[in-house]
Amino acid sequence: MKNGIIVGIVIVSLLGLIFVQYHFLRAGLLLERARMDQRVNVVLNEVYLKLVQPNPVREMTLRVLVKDKSPLASPEYLLPEQLKDSLNTLIRDGLGPDSSRLSYAFALTTERNDHLFLATEGYDTLADHSLIYQRGIGGLAGQACDCRPFFRFQVKNTVNYLLGRLAYLTIPSLVFILLLAACLVLLIVYLNRQRRLDLVKNDFINNLTHELKTPVFSIGMLSRMMKNAIEKGQKEKALEYGQLIEKENEVIKGHVERVLELASLDSPNYHMERRPVSFHDLIREAVSGIQAQLLTHQGLLSMRLEAASDLVNVDPVHMKNVLQNLLDNAIKYHKGTPEIELSTRNENGHFIFSISDNGIGIPGDQQDKIFEKFYRVTEGDLHNVKGFGLGLNYVRQIVRAHRGQIRLFSKLGEGSRFEIALIVDK
Ligand code: ADP
Repeated sequence: MKNGIIVGIVIVSLLGLIFVQYHFLRAGLLLERARMDQRVNVVLNEVYLKLVQPNPVREMTLRVLVKDKSPLASPEYLLPEQLKDSLNTLIRDGLGPDSSRLSYAFALTTERNDHLFLATEGYDTLADHSLIYQRGIGGLAGQACDCRPFFRFQVKNTVNYLLGRLAYLTIPSLVFILLLAACLVLLIVYLNRQRRLDLVKNDFINNLTHELKTPVFSIGMLSRMMKNAIEKGQKEKALEYGQLIEKENEVIKGHVERVLELASLDSPNYHMERRPVSFHDLIREAVSGIQAQLLTHQGLLSMRLEAASDLVNVDPVHMKNVLQNLLDNAIKYHKGTPEIELSTRNENGHFIFSISDNGIGIPGDQQDKIFEKFYRVTEGDLHNVKGFGLGLNYVRQIVRAHRGQIRLFSKLGEGSRFEIALIVDK
């Protein structure tokens, strides 16, 4: 909820900033447009004066106007080009440094713009009127063509020119707005991840509490029953209760150990005590540790330990935990009678351990996720199997710490195979 408010405030601020910047930009553009109009009008005035006062440019203009009326009266071919050059020089001088940024065209036309006496390349007779600056030239010029000639000046790149003038303002604004937007996206991603982690952690705590409650309750009840049995002198019953208490205690110990194992891996100081170990011996030890569980489910376990070289440099305690976790899952996620196969082989200088089961399998889209901390497959035929989603994360961390690899092959409803590849100790 609080996070939602923070994100909301940031979004509103960002939108507000964009709104304000937009208005600043608009005001800036209007101001620059007014400046441009002023500058062009000054230039137009200078051109006008040139065209109406006696000087070589006016002479040329008159000749162009006369030539247009009767071509034989002024037969120079280069005359229009010379006049264009002279006017262009005048305009360029008038515009100063802006002349290189402005793309413009100009023409000498009739008042109604339906006839061109002279026009530079790109002059558009149909152009938007708001982009045309014009000035009528009367007097002698009018007499020469028997009309009212107009000098028209078009700016071709008004928007680009104006934006260019404001670049010092627009570019930094855009960069800062984009930076803020990127931060907003990161914030949302981060908050989402945090929220998911919180949910997962809550799930884990609920799960753990639930898992611990049952054996704690059983121990409490069994202790009372044992006390009663002792008081009544029923030694055998008391012994039986004692054994049950021990069993429940083992369950609690198992849970606590799992959590501690993982907590210790999270600490930067955890260390491995690696030494050359016979992996086949480790497998046998792990298998003997899950015999009781296997019996309870009437499971079948077969071993094909075919690796010729099984000496691997590992931490035996952690690696045995890894094997036990995988065996535990193979039994836990069963479908019918558990059938588990353990096999080993050597391949390209590696020792490969494989454990396959005929259990419920894992959906393809979740096969990567199950190695994440606290992740559990929730849908499907799970028989309400209890767990914390920590085992496979621990397995992956330990295998990686040994610079090994773990791979999973699984098909929903058919079973799973986990393969661990480790470098053989030479
Ligand atoms: P836990 O078993 O405590 O839930 P794990 O990290 O060991 O946690 O396993 C994560 C999830 O992967 C399990 O919840 C289960 O859905 C799935 N899983 C693990 N091993 C198997 C398996 N052999 N067969 C089917 N699903 C499995």
